[in-house]
Parts: sequence; C-alpha cells; structure tokens
Amino acid sequence: MSEHLPASDRTTVRRGAKRAEYGHENILEILRSGSVAHVGVNTSDGPIVLPMVYGVTDDVMYLHGALANSLLKSGMDAEMCATVTIVDGLVIAKTPFNHSMNYRSVVVRGKARVVEDEEEAIHALRLMTDHIVPTWDVTRDPSASEIRATRIVALPLDEKSAKVRTGGAINDPDDVDTAVWSGYIPITSTFGTPVSNDDAGADIPAEVLRAVGRDVHEL
Ligand SMILES: Cc1cc2nc3c(=O)[nH]c(=O)nc-3n(C[C@H](O)[C@H](O)[C@H](O)COP(=O)(O)OP(=O)(O)OC[C@H]3O[C@@H](n4cnc5c(N)ncnc54)[C@H](O)[C@@H]3O)c2cc1C
Repeated sequence: MSEHLPASDRTTVRRGAKRAEYGHENILEILRSGSVAHVGVNTSDGPIVLPMVYGVTDDVMYLHGALANSLLKSGMDAEMCATVTIVDGLVIAKTPFNHSMNYRSVVVRGKARVVEDEEEAIHALRLMTDHIVPTWDVTRDPSASEIRATRIVALPLDEKSAKVRTGGAINDPDDVDTAVWSGYIPITSTFGTPVSNDDAGADIPAEVLRAVGRDVHEL
C-alpha cells in the first residue's frame, strides 16, 4: 500500500489496493520510463482511446496532434484520461485463473488545457521529442507553420494513480503442491542498432548513440 494518499475518490485504487502508488515522484518516474500514453475522451461518436506520445514536466503531461485530430478537439476543456503502461513480465501460475502480468501503470484524469503560448508550445514539443531519445537539438527547428498546424494540450498531473505489480505467481493453496511449473518471465525493451536513411546527410548524432547505449566505434 502506498505511503501517500490518493488525490481524489475517483483515483483511489480499490481492486488490488495493495499495489497502489500515489507518490508524485514515484508516479513521475513511471511516466518518464513509459513511451506511449493511451488517451481516452468522450466524443460525439462515443468514447475513444488512442495511443499517443507524450512529454512530462513536474506538473503536466503534454500531448499533441494535428489540428484536425478529433480526440484532442473533443478533449479541449473536457475530461480526459491518459494511461501509461509498462509491461515488465508475464506471470505464469499453476492455473490460468491465477496468471497475471508484472507491470507499472499510471492513470491520469482531469481537464486538459490547450497550450496557446508559443514559448510553452515549443517547450512542450521539445519535451515530447526528447521523451525517449533526445533529438530536438540535432534536428532542424520546427517552422512557424508546423507549429501552427499542431494542437498541444496539457493535462495536469493532479489527479493520478499508479499500480505496480512485481514478483511471481500467487497460487491457490490447493495448487501449491501440484507438479505444475509456475514463475514469471521478465520482459525488457532494448534499442536496436540505428539504421541510417539513404538521405541521412550526416553521421548518427552522438546524442542518439548515447541514448541507445552504443559507442560510435561499435557501428
Ligand atoms: C498490463 C495490464 C494488464 C491488465 N489486465 C487486466 C485484465 O485482463 N483484467 C482486469 O480485470 N484487470 C487487468 N488489469 C488491471 C486493471 O488495470 C485494473 O486495475 C483492474 O481491472 C481493476 O479495475 P477496477 O475498475 O475494479 O479498478 P478500481 O480499483 O475500481 O479503479 C479506481 C481507480 O483506481 C485507479 N486504477 C485502476 N487501475 C489502475 C491501473 N492499472 N493503474 C493505475 N491506476 C489504476 C484509477 O485511478 C481508477 O479510476 C491489468 C493491468 C495492467 C497494467
């Protein structure tokens, strides 16, 4: 059970409450480690959840898309929910009923604010660009028209919860002595070797090599 309190009733984990985490720093850490947010809103066609890249500050989660993006349009000044999930392993129990997954997941709920200020917009785009591998400083700056064609929203990190599962299977007491294997299979994500475009025009930047964990002499 988290040593911190939930921010609201609706972000209080009820099922599996011992896996709940509400600490701001711990939740930020999961958000920094994740790569994709599944963002849900109500639209005039019904609810929709779409995968999106994101960036985080201490206070907000930035999301962006084309001006025509229907999810972000519906999410302007409306309730939104963003979920980030990192799957760390498959948990194999002695019966499929007790199978599970090891994971770190975060749910953020709240009203998104449209980012109008140009300086904040550029900061948000930089955070989203650099979230997984920092490439903002080694690419050309976005043009004014590219920025104008992009909608950016900021979802406050006020109402949020995390759930974290680690370890092996929890088998039924009746199954413990049966001769059936149980345990867990860790899942890790690693970068592959970067592949240059035919029109790459330059060597792979040191920032990219550092981020993917390779020395230039290994390529
Ligand atoms: C990779 C993965 C696979 C899963 N597979 C399943 C599955 O197949 N079936 C299933 O029933 N459940 C699954 N879960 C757990 C699921 O996410 C819910 O936690 C669980 O179903 C309880 O739902 P509830 O509506 O009863 O939650 P409640 O505890 O009632 O939810 C209340 C509040 O708790 C918070 N919360 C709930 N779940 C999470 C979460 N995962 N992360 C962060 N905050 C959370 C939210 O703020 C939510 O508003 C999976 C989770 C992960 C990460």
